[in-house]
Amino acid sequence: MARIGYSDEHEQFRRTARAFFDREHEPQLKKFEAAGGIDKDFWRRAGQAGLLGACIPEEYGGAGGDFTFNVILAEELGRTPGSATTGSSLMADIATYILVLHGDDAQKQRYLPGILAGEISQAMPLTEPDAGSDATAIKTTAIRDGDDYVISGEKYFISNGAGADVLYVVAKTDPSQRGRGMSVIIVDADTPGVARHKIPMMGWAHGDTGALSFDDVRVPVSNLIGREGMAMKILMDTFLEDRLQIAGRCLGAASAALDLTLAYVKSRMVSGQRVFDFQNTQFVLAECRTDIAVTESFLDSCVVKFRDKALSFDEGAMLKLWATEMEGRVLDKCVQLFGGAGLMDENPISRMYTAARIQRVYAGTSELQKVAIAKGLEALA
Ligand SMILES: Cc1cc2nc3c(=O)[nH]c(=O)nc-3n(C[C@H](O)[C@H](O)[C@H](O)COP(=O)(O)OP(=O)(O)OC[C@H]3O[C@@H](n4cnc5c(N)ncnc54)[C@H](O)[C@@H]3O)c2cc1C
Repeated sequence: MARIGYSDEHEQFRRTARAFFDREHEPQLKKFEAAGGIDKDFWRRAGQAGLLGACIPEEYGGAGGDFTFNVILAEELGRTPGSATTGSSLMADIATYILVLHGDDAQKQRYLPGILAGEISQAMPLTEPDAGSDATAIKTTAIRDGDDYVISGEKYFISNGAGADVLYVVAKTDPSQRGRGMSVIIVDADTPGVARHKIPMMGWAHGDTGALSFDDVRVPVSNLIGREGMAMKILMDTFLEDRLQIAGRCLGAASAALDLTLAYVKSRMVSGQRVFDFQNTQFVLAECRTDIAVTESFLDSCVVKFRDKALSFDEGAMLKLWATEMEGRVLDKCVQLFGGAGLMDENPISRMYTAARIQRVYAGTSELQKVAIAKGLEALA
């Protein structure tokens, strides 16, 4: 059935993305796993396929597209079973929005062409060992020294953190303040004093979730994005995009899981009949299909509202809460229908199950989404 709110151009982009993942991701999965993750060549090929930097304005060589393209890319990434192993990868384009919305001309000239071409990958280090949900508790500092900032501190759980070429580090330029003292500063990852490594984790086994340390890292003040103290505004400006993108990924993954499960239960024989023929199986799959259909409608209406600048902050939170919990529900039911085979590492459904668990935690836990939704309730009474 045709999706509501997507133009022919969007649908063409979806076909391109799906063909790209079928061609460049799934057949390469064993290679990526052996190497511990996707390689630079994968980024370059994504750039050549026109999948990166959809929002980059024409004056910087991009197509100047809307965020719907990134939601589609995330959905198709989620639909790719192997991304349960390789992690968030191309979803890092959310950082491109920070540059497009708040970067100055010199910063855009310097980085956007490389981002488009897949030569430059990005990460957004905000979270620290002692500051996650409470982001304003970060301790990393960026202290002005002449024409430089000197950055010191640690960042933890950072998507693409160990491999990204460019880091948008959130640090306190005024450590006496909480949110108002936070700024976003560009750090080229090869700057002296930056050290980093991947953190082994449940799910995304060959992805890149990194720990970084900054030991008196010196960067020019021209690397500041926007003004000092603007970090929370900059981050808030991409919150809705982040939620749409994650919901897209959840929808793609749940849809792929349903397809895999349907194929399995229709071929697996138990007690002389297909697992599909048990009424329980059909009821469970009917629930999954309904869950996915509801999520698709909710996401598509949010995509349209977002384009019309009518998507509220609490609606974005509801979407993230709903879509991530939905993916968890669907994957749990799918694994059950596989029986023991669903728990084996060699089976994609097992890796998709553990990958689904991540969605309820990163980019604001389910509890934090409820806090945001509850704040909206105040205004309703
Ligand atoms: C795979 C992965 C990728 C990530 N990528 C990035 C990235 O690219 N950049 C980045 O900066 N960060 C990233 N993160 C960090 C992520 O955003 C944080 O893990 C998340 O925000 C939660 O913070 P925390 O882990 O410190 O948990 P905590 O803040 O310690 O929370 C612990 C528990 O307390 C609950 N809690 C906290 N506050 C409240 C409250 N007010 N009410 C009720 N319950 C509450 C939480 O919901 C949670 O259950 C990533 C994390 C993961 C796992």
